[in-house]
Amino acid sequence: MSLPRLAAGIEHLLDLLLAPGLCLYCGCELAAPASLCRPCAATLPRVPQPCRSCGQPLSTGQDTCPACLLDPPRWQGLRAPLAYRPPVREWLRQLKFDGAQHFARTLCEEVTPLLRGEQPLPQVLLPVPLHPSRLRERGFNQALLIAQQFGGALGIPVDSDALRRTRATASQSGLSAAQRIDNLRGAFSWQPQQPYRHVALVDDIVTTGATADAICRVLHRAGIESVRVWAIARTIRD
Ligand SMILES: [Zn+2]
Ligand SMILES: [Zn+2]
Repeated sequence: MSLPRLAAGIEHLLDLLLAPGLCLYCGCELAAPASLCRPCAATLPRVPQPCRSCGQPLSTGQDTCPACLLDPPRWQGLRAPLAYRPPVREWLRQLKFDGAQHFARTLCEEVTPLLRGEQPLPQVLLPVPLHPSRLRERGFNQALLIAQQFGGALGIPVDSDALRRTRATASQSGLSAAQRIDNLRGAFSWQPQQPYRHVALVDDIVTTGATADAICRVLHRAGIESVRVWAIARTIRD
């Protein structure tokens, strides 16, 4: 690197370090370093009264929706507190497709406090893996970035090696729920170095839940007792 470029780089870094934090959404100055000001954080779309099993909004006063009571999902609890709507939707797209990795921190800051009350806390966080070819293409796994944020804040280790995507699958978007399940058959393998019993699967977004379902099959077959699903956001029924 040439000297002027190095100097410019250092100057830019100093600017960043000395500047007061700015809210990512409205640009207001923040007193403490954070990513969103409180008013902006309060306007993020949250799932109202989410079902503890599927994360969809509840219309009854119970904690589990009728659909989950009738036909419980394979996992033992799901938290995806934000609704997959603007601006969360755009931020997650920018994180995944434009490499705007800072959004992992911004969004996790809003979601982590809601995970603190989980009992019992999982022994380990497992980011939903990308196939190696997809990982090379993208350069990073957004689920791992999110798991590292959750893990750092909650003091839970992250294992990004035990669960692997062994088969490259077609993109899930545009597929029906049944097609998604077919598409994921045999796509994951589980080779842990530790004898885990309680785990949380971490992803950016939950849509139909087909990915989490496919992974739960593999984990339960291997003797894992409880699998929680933690994500930033979920698509919700209107
Ligand atoms: Zn703001
Ligand atoms: Zn439900």
